[in-house]
Amino acid sequence: MSEEKTNAEILKEKLFNTRKNGRLAADEKTLAECDAYCEKYKAFLNSAKTEREAVKTAVKLAEENGFVKFERNKKYNVGDRVYINNRGKTAAFAVIGKEPVENGVNITAAHIDSPRLDLKPNPLYEDIELALFKTHYYGGIKKYQWTAIPLALHGVFALKDGSVKEVSIGENDDEPKFVINDLLPHLSQEQLKRTLNEGIKGEELNVLIGSHPFKSDKGSELVKLNVLKLFNEKYGITESDFLSAELELVPAVKACDIGIDRSMVGAYGQDDRVCAYPALTAIMEVNAPEKTALAILADKEEIGSVGNTGLESDFLRYVIGDLAEMQGGDGTVALRNSKCLSADVNAGTDPTFQDVMERRNASFLNYGVVVTKYTGARGKSGTSDASAEYVARIRNMLDNAGIIWQSGELGRVDLGGGGTVAMFIANMGVDVVDLGVPVLSMHAPFETTAKLDIYMCYRAMYEFMK
Ligand code: MN
Ligand code: MN
Repeated sequence: MSEEKTNAEILKEKLFNTRKNGRLAADEKTLAECDAYCEKYKAFLNSAKTEREAVKTAVKLAEENGFVKFERNKKYNVGDRVYINNRGKTAAFAVIGKEPVENGVNITAAHIDSPRLDLKPNPLYEDIELALFKTHYYGGIKKYQWTAIPLALHGVFALKDGSVKEVSIGENDDEPKFVINDLLPHLSQEQLKRTLNEGIKGEELNVLIGSHPFKSDKGSELVKLNVLKLFNEKYGITESDFLSAELELVPAVKACDIGIDRSMVGAYGQDDRVCAYPALTAIMEVNAPEKTALAILADKEEIGSVGNTGLESDFLRYVIGDLAEMQGGDGTVALRNSKCLSADVNAGTDPTFQDVMERRNASFLNYGVVVTKYTGARGKSGTSDASAEYVARIRNMLDNAGIIWQSGELGRVDLGGGGTVAMFIANMGVDVVDLGVPVLSMHAPFETTAKLDIYMCYRAMYEFMK
């Protein structure tokens, strides 16, 4: 047998689009960089479990890296670093480029909200001498996954005097946690006949928060009373203050390595902080780019990018407008010339559930950052289908920089679907394509990603904005 390649093999190499596992393609140095980067990523996840905490953590990092709060009446020069904080839930970070803003901005946009359980406005009640919170889930969850796991309470009470009390209970080892209890299998005969979707119903997502009654010989609701007394002592609040609160229950679990080879990361809220962290850390590294660079960390993507902190709002328009006007330019011209990477996750192929994927167009762990030309459902409805020309430009950028990447589609045709912020940004006349990290167990309380893909996402964000 000859060691030489056959003509067919040579021609295949030239003509076929062959994929290779990124961990085989990458050298040792790159793999070590993936590991080091993900140590910082895990720390970010632990400090940013809600959109508010993500903005806070991001602004702190930005200020340490020379970013200052943008002021409309000020003039900024090439290389200047500014940030705009929208109500503590969405933030934009910009580095002023050499070309006028009107020539276009290179935008990376990721979201920092994740599926979770929000407290209802009137959440607290007592039943059979146990105190509980009523919740309304946020985003697309499989409700049964949120029972019988430790939960932490994060958020704020906004009081009538204008003060805001920050809440975080359950993250530290010595702090109490909360839990939604499920029915024991012994008595689940009826429950187990429900469909998986109804296995736990929305109104059954009730969180256990206390059982100790306030000491008294008479009176009812003494457990609830004691719980309120504790909240009052800690935050100075009364029951009515829940009406103007935003309190979110998230899994009380820390980010960790997954696998005996430590090649993956497991954590809550990786959709989409696994793209938000790369976008944020990439813009920290950008100095005096040709075009102005902008990284946006947005709220409300999981419920349709609605509201004044979601990307369907005019926030991005105002940000670009302000930057352009600062130079005497026009915001709409700037938008029309702008380019964007919509940084969001894709569904990685799970060995156990391969049949929801169409293998030739699915994304895989360790095959690098995923370029998703379109999302949507039922014949591409609700997507911004990126143009061939723009995808070609991004391909070229990734290949020239030696970034390991793959293309992906969100599952088989007509099995479901989803959307990202891409379509809202496209509506402003910006060229945009989705690019992000493949995730297993997306939207579950604990999601899995691969370190190589995360690092390649960071490198793509940097390459795009530098
Ligand atoms: Mn997402
Ligand atoms: Mn999502």
